[in-house]
Amino acid sequence: EALTSAEADELERAAEAALRPKRLEEFVGQRVVREQLALVLQAARSRGACADHVLLAGPPGLGKTTLAMIIASEMHASLRLTSGPAITHAGDLAAILSSVQEGDVLFIDEIHRLARPAEEMLYLAMEDFRVDVVVGKGAGATSIPLSLPRFTVVGATTRAGLLPAPLRDRFGFTGHMDFYEAADLERVIARSARLLDISLDPAAGREIARRSRGTPRIANRLLRRVRDWAQVRGNGAADEAAARAALEVFEVDPRGLDRLDRSVLHTLCVRFGGGPVGLTSIAMAVGEEPETVETVAEPYLLREGFLVRTPRGRAATALAWDHLGLRPPSAPGT
Ligand code: ADP
Repeated sequence: EALTSAEADELERAAEAALRPKRLEEFVGQRVVREQLALVLQAARSRGACADHVLLAGPPGLGKTTLAMIIASEMHASLRLTSGPAITHAGDLAAILSSVQEGDVLFIDEIHRLARPAEEMLYLAMEDFRVDVVVGKGAGATSIPLSLPRFTVVGATTRAGLLPAPLRDRFGFTGHMDFYEAADLERVIARSARLLDISLDPAAGREIARRSRGTPRIANRLLRRVRDWAQVRGNGAADEAAARAALEVFEVDPRGLDRLDRSVLHTLCVRFGGGPVGLTSIAMAVGEEPETVETVAEPYLLREGFLVRTPRGRAATALAWDHLGLRPPSAPGT
């Protein structure tokens, strides 16, 4: 029986949840952020206080939500989860804030997408542990200050640069998450294979790690697809041949680029002659939101040197042309 896409999403979420490390020591890689966070949390614990607000910045799938959960569990606190887009009115945030208990960790995913009035309410709550609840409308409206218990906001954003300075300044600490080294991804994959009871050949683990765009979420997903391939088309063994074959079926290329990555590069080279061209034009040509192109595809393409950002827009590098097997237009006079 076919799954609806909502059911499929639900299954993916459940599969992800099962693989989340629960303690800071279990969290693989991100040495710098892990050390900074260990310090912040230990200091707060020894003062018997709740931790300072923490902002986690970096591309999707690098472990921001996981770290928020770890912060709560290391602080023996309960976790509340929400997201910028889920809070459409300041009133939604007021409702959440007024139910926060002493010491709680409030995780706000995609915090850069909070509506302006909610953002302003959040400044005050983070700084003074207070909300002003507006009662009534128009000239008769009055605002009633409500004091809040001390709690910790953990914000996650894919674009730290987009956060207004007043909001950024309210975080005592910002962890900048970077793409994972292949060796760290191998450890993530080996750990997941153990938890999922997959007997994974080390060479297959290396192959998956190399092709996971530096991202644990992708590594875990590809591991499950390699298992699928091994069960259905192979002899059950998650070996290197199964890994190669599965990655090909799921359109992950040898450099780890996926469909969207390649589609962005292809558009840039073929439709726009290699650029420079604006983000919006690229997004329209590939049929995605500019934010998706900018936060999902672009950071990895930039970091791997397939693309550069110039004041006049995005441009393809020689590596991009080469990777697509295309010849760059020759410069005049050459
Ligand atoms: P984000 O919130 O940054 O989008 P998540 O925290 O949801 O990312 O992580 C995505 C998946 O990757 C989760 O299943 C999580 O278990 C796994 N993961 C992320 N970081 C790590 C890590 N450092 N070690 C092990 N697994 C990780």
